[in-house]
Amino acid sequence: MTGLPAELLALRQAVRELAESRIAPRAAEVDRTAQFPWDYVEALRQHDLFRVGLPEAYGGLGLGLLGAALVTEELSRIDAVAGLLVAVQELGTLPIVLAGSEEQKKEFLPRCASGECLAAFGLTEPEAGSDAAAGRTRAVRRGDEYVLDGMKHFVTNAGVAGVYVVFAHTDPAAGARGMSAFIVTSDTPGFAVGRLQHKMGIRGSTTGELLFDGARVPRSRLLGREGDGFRIAMATLDRSRTTIAAQAVGIAQGALDYALAYARERRQFGRPIAEFEGLQFMLADMATRTEAARQLLYAACARLDEEGEGLARLPAEASRLSAMAKLFASDTAMQVTTDAVQVLGGYGYMVEHPVERMMRDAKITQIYEGTNQIQRLVVARSLLETLGVAR
Ligand SMILES: Cc1cc2nc3c(=O)[nH]c(=O)nc-3n(C[C@H](O)[C@H](O)[C@H](O)COP(=O)(O)OP(=O)(O)OC[C@H]3O[C@@H](n4cnc5c(N)ncnc54)[C@H](O)[C@@H]3O)c2cc1C
Repeated sequence: MTGLPAELLALRQAVRELAESRIAPRAAEVDRTAQFPWDYVEALRQHDLFRVGLPEAYGGLGLGLLGAALVTEELSRIDAVAGLLVAVQELGTLPIVLAGSEEQKKEFLPRCASGECLAAFGLTEPEAGSDAAAGRTRAVRRGDEYVLDGMKHFVTNAGVAGVYVVFAHTDPAAGARGMSAFIVTSDTPGFAVGRLQHKMGIRGSTTGELLFDGARVPRSRLLGREGDGFRIAMATLDRSRTTIAAQAVGIAQGALDYALAYARERRQFGRPIAEFEGLQFMLADMATRTEAARQLLYAACARLDEEGEGLARLPAEASRLSAMAKLFASDTAMQVTTDAVQVLGGYGYMVEHPVERMMRDAKITQIYEGTNQIQRLVVARSLLETLGVAR
């Protein structure tokens, strides 16, 4: 890939080899059984891949969002569930990186960097999806603790994570400004994991409810100050959505690679179908879109990596790039995987070939960490801001 430093090119090659040897043989089975793949987690731990995006001071490799994107992309080329493990580790740890105290960082980040502990991010509720500030989960201060009541749903890594960053209102009357963020460990009294959802794609990843019934969270686990929660969530998502874009680029590349190889082998009318111009045009468009998505993603990561950690609002143009990357890459993944199924004809519709799984997996990238309608709003508002109209 043009412009990437040698260190990242070597990382990319190592992850490609790992994905082909350890993930590829299991991907179809993980999809079919929808069992969480602890063997993937072990493979990523052994290769230090949970460390990639985290700061060096806390056990990370300090390769930033660009490093995390490369790893997520290469894993997702083989199985989007494997890529999601790295993406969600970023999502669950970024709030601590951005807003945590030194003690909180030292306590939680090294364990997440090693992969000993998986992380999760609980923002969404049944009545609060795109309108994330409308959540009903409450946190009330009692002495040295906060007592949490309510529930989260659609949380990735529910039931397998050891650390959950959870958003709850400490001052419901204040709306978004009354939301706070807490680090909740899986052994917290009053906290339980509820129902796990059955899904169209990324079936090996868990998605479920977090239940809080008088859950007692020590005051020392409040992230930042009371009322910082919404800013923490937005600062996290502005950055973490690049990993979802990376997941999408990887899925698209995997589908393209498979469709290309198939088109060279499959013969109809006495010759390989790859010789028909109608299919060549499709393959050319698939490759062009995938490469454009990748370059936009890398540009967004490089731009975001220039920004320091912390809760300061990103420059409009940086969060716009990250929204554009997620929007374009996920729409690309949906288009390219659908076309890959078409290239394979009826065989593409069958579970013996991975492209139907990739098409199902691609769909989620248009939905989570902000739907593509919301990404378009982010892009449009930041464009308007450059004209002097408030975001
Ligand atoms: C598999 C999976 C994993 C997930 N993982 C996590 C996780 O780890 N943590 C977490 O907190 N959440 C997670 N989510 C939640 C995810 O981020 C939300 O589903 C998403 O933000 C959309 O919210 P919603 O589903 O409530 O849809 P809604 O907000 O109800 O949206 C419904 C439709 O309306 C559109 N819409 C809404 N508002 C607007 C608007 N202003 N303008 C135009 N269109 C609009 C949406 O784009 C969508 O098409 C996950 C979801 C899934 C499915």
